[in-house]
Amino acid sequence: MRYISTRGTAPVLSFEEAMLTGLARDGGLYVPETIPTLSRDEIAGMAGQSYEEVAFTVMRPFIGDTFTDDEFRDLITKAYACFGHSARAPMVQLAPNHFLLELFHGPTLAFKDFAMQLIGQMFQKALGRKGDRVTIVGATSGDTGSAAIEAFRGLDNVDVFILYPHGRVSEVQRRQMTTPSESNVHALAVDGDFDDCQARLKDMFNDFEFRDGVKLAGVNSINWGRVLAQVVYYFTAAVSLGAPDREVSFTVPTGNFGDIFAGYIAKRMGLPIADLVVATNQNDILDRCLKGQGYHKGEVHASISPSMDIQVSSNFERALFDAYERDGNAVAQLMAELGQGGFDVSQGAMQALQDLYRSGRASEAETTETIAQLHTTTGELLCPHSAVGVKVAEDQRDPCVPMVTLATAHPAKFPDAVENATGIRPGLPSRMADLFDRPERVTRVANDLEALKTHIRKALA
Ligand SMILES: *Cc1c(COP(=O)(O)O)cnc(C)c1O
Repeated sequence: MRYISTRGTAPVLSFEEAMLTGLARDGGLYVPETIPTLSRDEIAGMAGQSYEEVAFTVMRPFIGDTFTDDEFRDLITKAYACFGHSARAPMVQLAPNHFLLELFHGPTLAFKDFAMQLIGQMFQKALGRKGDRVTIVGATSGDTGSAAIEAFRGLDNVDVFILYPHGRVSEVQRRQMTTPSESNVHALAVDGDFDDCQARLKDMFNDFEFRDGVKLAGVNSINWGRVLAQVVYYFTAAVSLGAPDREVSFTVPTGNFGDIFAGYIAKRMGLPIADLVVATNQNDILDRCLKGQGYHKGEVHASISPSMDIQVSSNFERALFDAYERDGNAVAQLMAELGQGGFDVSQGAMQALQDLYRSGRASEAETTETIAQLHTTTGELLCPHSAVGVKVAEDQRDPCVPMVTLATAHPAKFPDAVENATGIRPGLPSRMADLFDRPERVTRVANDLEALKTHIRKALA
């Protein structure tokens, strides 16, 4: 299996190289050259299997000869051993034909753990046998950073630096990043918003002298390995609801378009997905784009679902690449226009996107109302991101097709929003109850490429 860049000019890589590299050298994102498909029988065979067994079947065709079958099985087992639920991704029913897929039983209580725990294992294995060491730098609106730090803390072959927007992450998120005491963990509070963090990260990758000097590696959702790990739970959920004999739809609280893109990959692999619904908060640039209004950047407005507060949705580039029939030049052109503020999508590409994705948005008031209402009708406490999903799913779903809404974080990760809606303050699971007592360690840095480079070089010296 070979990987190509969405901008068409970076070298073609193996799975291992694409995973260790992150962003392509032409500024693009790596995608598989072809999408493997699973037969109806292979999908039917997943019924009743463990999460780990399904994970192996779904991901194996993408990894080429990077790992042997035994090695890969072992990495998957280790990745999910620390989850707090034996099903890994259990489902609960909210209403007739509406289900909630709980993706928050990992060590940092958000779905990011599904990918990050596996990436940590895969990096460790691949770097260990080469005797290599890399510097991982990630940008986060809160959940990616905590998941990355949890996955890489104490590993021999990596230093991990996480850029988060100062003052714009929840206290639980911040503490998950600042309390690990391992010396290879570095939390950086940047004076800016999430898009600034993401932009500085891209700057570092495009500074080849720095990139090669510190052996920069990326674990943001631009990393193909992240997207791949997220394809698995679409299969486990759909199969438990009757796939391949029955179609299932999904609604996905969306920011960087990584999670929903994994759903698209599942569909291309042969999973019978009826609708893929993109759910956004008040930062609704994707909803507007998918309704044909072009992709034009505005201001980021801080919301109660901060992990979706973005204007630049990096993985949308992967969707555009396919919508433009894999024309790397066209994508490079769009991304150059985005640098100037935005772009319009061609008629053909728009049709292709609308054939694949539906979309909706939830306002702040609607999000709070949904948390309250779901608590009344089901007793379930939703995190605000999951509530955005449930609201949009209720607006859009076909009552005859099972709808699965992805619950992307545990309510205890965003206790203020949940308490405000329901009067109940959700408690942390007991395994992390001492989070508020541990000492914090963090460096405040300017929103400036040179300052960041200097800080990272010094910390590594
Ligand atoms: C990251 C995140 C999202 C958005 O996921 P994308 O893959 O960036 O679209 C939604 N909810 C939560 C809780 C998250 O951490």
